[in-house]
Amino acid sequence: MDTKLDPSRDDLPLMANTSHILVKHYVLDLDVDFESQIIEGTIVLFFESGNRFQKQSGSTKEPCRSESNEACRFRMPEPCHSPVTDTRTFSSKTRSNDFTICGKGEKDTSGKDGNHDNWEQASGISSSKYCCDTGNHGSEDFLLVLDCCDLSVLKVEEVDVAAVPGIEKLTRSPKLTVVSEELRNQIVCELVTLPADRWREQLDYYARCSQAPGCGELLFDTDTWSLQIRKTGAQTATDFPHAIRIRYSTKPQGRSVTWTSDQSGRPCVYTMGSPINNRALFPCQEPPVAMSTWQATVRAAASFVVLMSGENSAKPTQLREGCSSWHYYVTMPMPASTFTIAVGSWTEMKPETCSSNDLAAERSLSPSEADFRYVGICGHMEYPCRFQNPSATTQEIIPHRVFAPVCLKAACQETLLQLVPPCLSAAHRVLGTHPFSRLDILIVPGNFPSLGMASPHIIFLSQSVLTGNSHLCGTRLCHEIAHAWFGLAIGARDWTEEWLSEGFATHLEDVFWAKAQQLDPHEAQEQQELKACLRWCRLQDEVRNSPEEMQVLRPNKEKTGHVSDSGSSVVKHGLNPEKVFMQVHYLKGYFLLRFLAQRLGDDTYFAFLRKFVHTFHGQLILSQDFLQMLLENIPEEKRLELSVENIFRDWLESSGIPQPLQRERQAGAECGLARQVSVEVEKWIRMNRRPRKRKRRETEQVFEKLLPDQLVLLLEHLLEQKTLNPRTLQSLERAYRLTQQDAEGEAAHRAEHRRSLPSGKQ
Ligand SMILES: [Zn+2]
Repeated sequence: MDTKLDPSRDDLPLMANTSHILVKHYVLDLDVDFESQIIEGTIVLFFESGNRFQKQSGSTKEPCRSESNEACRFRMPEPCHSPVTDTRTFSSKTRSNDFTICGKGEKDTSGKDGNHDNWEQASGISSSKYCCDTGNHGSEDFLLVLDCCDLSVLKVEEVDVAAVPGIEKLTRSPKLTVVSEELRNQIVCELVTLPADRWREQLDYYARCSQAPGCGELLFDTDTWSLQIRKTGAQTATDFPHAIRIRYSTKPQGRSVTWTSDQSGRPCVYTMGSPINNRALFPCQEPPVAMSTWQATVRAAASFVVLMSGENSAKPTQLREGCSSWHYYVTMPMPASTFTIAVGSWTEMKPETCSSNDLAAERSLSPSEADFRYVGICGHMEYPCRFQNPSATTQEIIPHRVFAPVCLKAACQETLLQLVPPCLSAAHRVLGTHPFSRLDILIVPGNFPSLGMASPHIIFLSQSVLTGNSHLCGTRLCHEIAHAWFGLAIGARDWTEEWLSEGFATHLEDVFWAKAQQLDPHEAQEQQELKACLRWCRLQDEVRNSPEEMQVLRPNKEKTGHVSDSGSSVVKHGLNPEKVFMQVHYLKGYFLLRFLAQRLGDDTYFAFLRKFVHTFHGQLILSQDFLQMLLENIPEEKRLELSVENIFRDWLESSGIPQPLQRERQAGAECGLARQVSVEVEKWIRMNRRPRKRKRRETEQVFEKLLPDQLVLLLEHLLEQKTLNPRTLQSLERAYRLTQQDAEGEAAHRAEHRRSLPSGKQ
């Protein structure tokens, strides 16, 4: 039974009925208009129904198209009794099938020239008319439910894929003389199941099908969280059209994208990691289990650059005057929530000098060049996987571009540009094959709420990481790069288990960064211990200052991963505004992984992690998938009392500080770098208590020079003091030149948060 949703609660609904029917591919065709702050166009969805389509070769029982129309007319049901009707929204009116235009490739003008009123008038038959029609009352049509909010849906229609020239090659029958619903669905079925080595042909067919004429409008209805579509007489998912086109536009206030200005004052729009993900950008199936591929054509004024989750480094195509078009695609199926777009007047940043060696090393490997010799079995559904491509597996540095507003050029050249290759290379040394073939990095506008966000093929970084020295930039870059493996290539099946992306990325950021800096093992360990002290402070602070139920990493306990019969579910606390400020998934997740790595020893742990990545990339996981495989790989003598059950109990299902961590921190001696901080903290506390006296000269010399993370730790400790007098603060500023340090950026972003949910990424 479906869970009843209460919008006043802080849980995020996932409405799509993915147990019945699954989107396999999206084709987006969109125009971005900065003046009206609207994105509009069409999306075509290609489905695979839950019960595998049954092929009936050489079937002759299909009626011809006109007969089919007749049949529809007689089978008109009672749409005015639509079970979900929200009369407040414009689009709630049930739309009609206009049978006279069926299959004729009619020109649709409704989306372009009209405001809503026009459209409503033009849209034809009102719902009341249906009631007069005879129908098979009592029968229920299959309802396709898509996640959708804040979209103006203008029209939904079935796509006549049989009209695409050459498409008959996909079917058994030599010539498509008799076109039926069944045949169209058979074509889509063949298309979505084409083998991975025919990916290019598949993409091309998808594109051409998406432009095929419509063959009948479908009835639709919207409410707060969903778009519901049905076809009169189609009673099961198998009978429902497997290719549908939705014409729609976004609303300026929609929460999936943010319209704003960049640091140079020019307009831009981008997906900034809303808790509602992309459902106010396009109607989709949000549950992560709906892993799909996509391609998108986006048009904007020629002065804009369109960046997107796509495996090709798109270049613009000039269209009519002053307008250009960008096309991107992916061949690896991923949850729709991971799709990301940014449109703005960005400039590509290039190093002042670039060596030909670097370029040679970064030669792009498109799946077409992939020589898919067999490198081992992948557990995921079929796609052109880099783990099976020997040239891709050895590629240390993937091709990348860096974009930013032109005013940040110098800052990018000073810090970011030269950090990208060593960080990518470090990640490869630790985890092996890069799951994605290329990467764009964008410095996002100042209103971006966190330090970074990772999506397929694109990383957003806050401008804050460009200030100060390279430390903050490097660690943040490493964090986002780690999400390519944990969060993207391996996603959480249940979004409440955010630690599966954030805990891993936080743990790996230290490891990557140490490698990128080429630290020797002792230095690396010191730096990582210092980070542990810092995160320990923060975790304690957060546990003291947040609601207990928000401190649990696996809040659904044994129900984690459960969905309703239809596939819908709710994400606990998914819309809770406090969640944005919580770091518990980063911190507790990090400490758990650190604890496990220490138990195994680094070499064993990272060897296991590579094995885990090899087994689970391209798939969704729950906590137990990781823990079970890990424990199986720990020799008996090291496993001691560890079990999945007690890790759940101690680390994942309780609030507060995990007991094993509490014990470890109490017993553990501080590392040298942290001890140094403690000594400095004592000096500052003494100074803070000292009554105002004649100014002493030595203050400047007394304090040691500190590393950026030491400074942050020092400030954490000082902030625990009840009062810091203004004099102390001024001296702090003088001693460490705080305003020029990373620490400021870091402090300003304590509320670092990730793109909503572990669907990705941050
Ligand atoms: Zn694979």
